[in-house]
Amino acid sequence: MNLEAVIGLEIHVQLNTKTKTFCSCSTGFGAVPNTHTCPVCLGLPGALPVFNRDVLKKGVMAGLALNCTICSYSVFARKNYFYPDLPKAYQISQFEHPLNRAGFVRIKDERGKERSIGITRAHLEEDAGKLVHDDDPKGPSFIDLNRCGMPLLEIVTEPDLRTPDEAYRFLVAVKEILQYTEVSECSMEKGELRVDVNVSLRETGEDAFGVKQEVKNLNSFANVKRALEYEIKRQSRLIRSGERLTQQTRLFDVSKNATVQMRTKESAHDYRYFPDPDLVPIELSPQEIDGIRETLPELPEERRDRIKAQYGLTDYDVEVLCSSHKIARYFEDSARGYKRPKKIANWIHTEVMRALNETGKDIESFAVTPERLRELFEIMDGGVISGKLAKAVFDEMAASGETAAEVVERKGMRQLSDREEIVDVVEAVIRDHAAVTDEYRSGKKKAFGFLVGQVMKRTGGKANPKIVNELLKEKLSNQPGVEDH
Ligand SMILES: [Zn+2]
Repeated sequence: MNLEAVIGLEIHVQLNTKTKTFCSCSTGFGAVPNTHTCPVCLGLPGALPVFNRDVLKKGVMAGLALNCTICSYSVFARKNYFYPDLPKAYQISQFEHPLNRAGFVRIKDERGKERSIGITRAHLEEDAGKLVHDDDPKGPSFIDLNRCGMPLLEIVTEPDLRTPDEAYRFLVAVKEILQYTEVSECSMEKGELRVDVNVSLRETGEDAFGVKQEVKNLNSFANVKRALEYEIKRQSRLIRSGERLTQQTRLFDVSKNATVQMRTKESAHDYRYFPDPDLVPIELSPQEIDGIRETLPELPEERRDRIKAQYGLTDYDVEVLCSSHKIARYFEDSARGYKRPKKIANWIHTEVMRALNETGKDIESFAVTPERLRELFEIMDGGVISGKLAKAVFDEMAASGETAAEVVERKGMRQLSDREEIVDVVEAVIRDHAAVTDEYRSGKKKAFGFLVGQVMKRTGGKANPKIVNELLKEKLSNQPGVEDH
């Protein structure tokens, strides 16, 4: 029996508005528990929600970036259930009438083949609070309602994904699109992006779906992949041994690298959705939608194609540079008006990436700004410093926050291009290494590199390599004893 997996995802993304969805409480992260609250998000009786238009704008932007149809009419509904982190005992969400429908995201599969993954809907909803449990299982639990009412976009895919790797690639692509669009930072550490997966198996070639199992609240893409891999193995073992699966909701236990049952279909919630009587339906005119469309930035796919063509880069360069929109922007700002952008691209994916890793800095707070990086290249091209020393200058710039010119001046790194000065060193090296010089003259060309190295060493790496080469060749081609001293 040949089994294939059918995978669908639900992604919750926190939209980065300044205030919550239905009140003016701050969405700031890391505040003292229960300080970003008010009667509306605490669910106190009589408090009325007021919809934040910025949530709508960001929801539409995300929908457009995910190639969705934006609905001119959408409705907030109450999703009723009881849980200690939900003081109103209902969550405001969208059910029958979501904001965005029928989108897609293109990904490349393992073999580099392009696949289009359908998005069923992307609707707006509010977040619930957070329970904080004591380390001691017998200890108390605490509640932090700061997260209550935070704006979320829930993206639901079609059952189009087939492998854990595809699911991973899709998530990377969605995260990139949302970050480019600047509707969310998508920081998984801060819980701004959470994923539920559902997966079922069926015989390859069948159209009907198998019994699906859901795994909730995965907080990293790596865990999504691991949970799916585990589930596919588990389900395939059960099916092959002739067991009948029942629909379940499961949790992923990171320490065991396994999923465990949370609830069965029989105990599934009946949310008794109904339109929220406190909120009017959202109506959007085509003009309003077009107005938001005009504010959309260039998306990852377009930017990759343009950057590749505009700067004459390879696929690899583009992959690295566009891995984040901030790096892509840094590259374009650095390369502005510079005649050899490929050199800057190489430098970014070697030196800049290394420096960021070492300093733990974000590209936006990195001391070597795009303008300063370009200046370093201009100084190098102008022969003020050698390419060899450029790395050292760059490291100094990153550490001290100085410009390239300031570092070169302070450290006395200016390239030695004075022939008179270099010729003295060249002659001294030839004199001091008579044996090697003889080897070179008798045809051992390798000896030349050694002599160049000696000259560079004596000048502290500052001699202009081109001049060193010329002078060495000139002096070595002179017959010994015929030189005019
Ligand atoms: Zn509030």
